[in-house]
Amino acid sequence: MAPRAPTAGPETPVKPYPVTCDTSVIPGFGRGSADLGIPTANIPQQAFDSLEAIGSETGVYFGWAAVYSSSTASDQAEAVVPRLGSSDTTVLQSFGNRLSADEVGKVFPMVMSVGWNPFYGNEKKSAEIHIIHKFAHSFYGARIKFMVLGYVRPELNYTTKEALIEDIHTDILVAEKSLEREEYAKYKHDAFFKID
Ligand code: ADP
Ligand code: MG
Repeated sequence: MAPRAPTAGPETPVKPYPVTCDTSVIPGFGRGSADLGIPTANIPQQAFDSLEAIGSETGVYFGWAAVYSSSTASDQAEAVVPRLGSSDTTVLQSFGNRLSADEVGKVFPMVMSVGWNPFYGNEKKSAEIHIIHKFAHSFYGARIKFMVLGYVRPELNYTTKEALIEDIHTDILVAEKSLEREEYAKYKHDAFFKID
């Protein structure tokens, strides 16, 4: 395959970007970490549906994201809840209470994958967000705010898992490099991400 460009999109985000979303992290199928070694925070279907401004393109997008302990977390005890479409595998819903103090509300680069959701017989699209930061704990049930600032590439058909993983690692580098540009970097400090 041809080498990929180091950055994506123009020097300044253009319409419809930035597109923002304020939602919560829900369990998915558990494939991100297990199959690819790249965890992706899943979001509720209606949160994805609210992102229609980004258009109908499947593939990989980039931007900024932050996680917060859920505003009602103090009265919510940690709980073990089932995975999407599974009664025998579970996740720990911690509502973000296990995030470290310097992770709560910190804005990190992210890549977001949009694709046809197998849970709905591939009839609905959904999004999954990989935050470019190494977290010590999962944060199911946490509040997540993210801002999409551009599009990296379409969804491709990979012949091997290794090729897919390699491309995602390239997506991560492209997202980081793209977000260093002044007109993208400034959104890291946007009022949208302030804790309320
Ligand atoms: P699931 O199918 O339940 O989404 P994944 O294997 O994709 O399972 O893992 C996603 C979960 O991992 C997220 O919900 C979050 O709690 C946790 N997680 C840990 N680190 C990250 C990260 N860097 N980006 C996104 N999610 C992360
Ligand atoms: Mg996931």
